[in-house]
Amino acid sequence: MNAIAFFLLALVVLMILINISSIALDLFRYFFGEPAAKYVLIKPIKPEYKKALEEYFPYYNGLHPTHKKVFEKRVQLFIDLKKFIPRDFDVVLDEVKAIVAASAIQLTFGLPQVYLRHFSKILIHTDDYYNRIFRRYHEGEVNMYGGIIVLSWKSFARGYMNGEDGKNLGLHEMAHALRLENEINNGEFGFLNRKLLRMWRKEAEKTMEIINNGDTSFFRKYGGVNREEFFAVAIENFFEKPEEYKEKYPEQYSILTQLLKQDPILLKHSPRKV
Ligand SMILES: [Zn+2]
Repeated sequence: MNAIAFFLLALVVLMILINISSIALDLFRYFFGEPAAKYVLIKPIKPEYKKALEEYFPYYNGLHPTHKKVFEKRVQLFIDLKKFIPRDFDVVLDEVKAIVAASAIQLTFGLPQVYLRHFSKILIHTDDYYNRIFRRYHEGEVNMYGGIIVLSWKSFARGYMNGEDGKNLGLHEMAHALRLENEINNGEFGFLNRKLLRMWRKEAEKTMEIINNGDTSFFRKYGGVNREEFFAVAIENFFEKPEEYKEKYPEQYSILTQLLKQDPILLKHSPRKV
């Protein structure tokens, strides 16, 4: 075989291989969605992000080593899918990106296809910021129309520094985004089980009545404002005070473990190292 024939044969084989891999990737995208397809091909986590997880994120540090690897890849992908925008400073540090992304992945760790894809922008303020529409200072919010999650870094960090007080801004805002994402008709639509959501609504209404009648012994008063705020406050407690939550509201706790497909109590008691 002369050199030209060999070159042509090699070219044909190469084109066939490229075609096969692109069809395989298209099929994967079709069945598992774009983020999952990227996840398969994704580069390993940036060392600076991993260092931040190890230093500041107890949920990650409590995972089994195998799950840690998955968590890292998902954090990297979450960061790659979002635009982080500093509002009153110059550059969003790597450690800030890592911890904000980790907050979303903590909430969605049992839902591997969910990256809150509608919310493509994350706005970070250094401190609580003035909202002109509501005429008051905010710690964070989720803007569905702009696809934006807004966070005060000071309040966000405080949430993780006090990990057992049932207050966590990051989880609270990610919980709002999760509920909205479930309703927005895109590739991540309808991932929360509808029957469980109906059961949750009944539980939420009963508990909001308890809160609004003045019993704030477990859920804080803000949880009684409306169903969405109750869900966000419940998520904060689910991760920060799971034992107490399960003891006081076992039915509700069980619904959340099924909706999110994870149980923070089991996670706390799972082996940390092999
Ligand atoms: Zn809220």
